[in-house]
Amino acid sequence: MIEENVKKLLAEIDDNPFGEKVTLVAAVKTQTVEDINRAIAAGITDIGDNHVQEFRDKYDGIAGNPRRHFIGHLQLNKVKYLIGKTDLYQSVDRFELAEELSKRSERAGVTSRCLIQINIGNEESKGGFEYNDGEKVFRAISALPALKIEGLMAMLPFTDDEGVLRPLAKKMRALYERLRGESGDIKYLSMGMSGDWKLCVECGSNMVRLGTSIFGPRHYNV
Ligand SMILES: *Cc1c(COP(=O)(O)O)cnc(C)c1O
Repeated sequence: MIEENVKKLLAEIDDNPFGEKVTLVAAVKTQTVEDINRAIAAGITDIGDNHVQEFRDKYDGIAGNPRRHFIGHLQLNKVKYLIGKTDLYQSVDRFELAEELSKRSERAGVTSRCLIQINIGNEESKGGFEYNDGEKVFRAISALPALKIEGLMAMLPFTDDEGVLRPLAKKMRALYERLRGESGDIKYLSMGMSGDWKLCVECGSNMVRLGTSIFGPRHYNV
């Protein structure tokens, strides 16, 4: 099942309309090490965690050396557990978090690669900076010493209404292009989950984070 899902998705995910390769990140929250390793053996190269405790518990059991992403809300006091072990921090959703990441990275002698999370739907329930602050936030965070900002991350509102989703996804692509005009480091627009990834890729996402469509329903008892 997992193997088939991965193979099917990898075959199905094509370049976006801008001619960019689309990276598939497996969202692994609540999944077992065994199932994550099955996904990796089937071709997954990137995995994304939401919870620091899960990230730490599973870290050594993961085979095949995938790239590690952190995609969840990150508390300041837990940053230290991720430094040097995370390839891309996708959910930099507030300035204090960027400062803590930079401080800890500097102390460890590493540069941390980050995406800035934008709350594109202006939703109470989601983290991220306001869309209209995107450029200002990018410049402020870029000035921190030990971070490299490589793009943007967003979660669209939970709806099937393409009339709502498409304009928001296109706005994200527009901001991504404006930032790319400011910095050659910008290369990722991470947008798209199991329910909306096709629409997101059509609108210019080049990184999708899929959980359910790889693993099936989540195991909330784990
Ligand atoms: C869980 C999660 C995903 C994947 O969600 P699915 O709908 O299961 O594909 C993607 N991004 C983030 C930030 C998540 O927390």
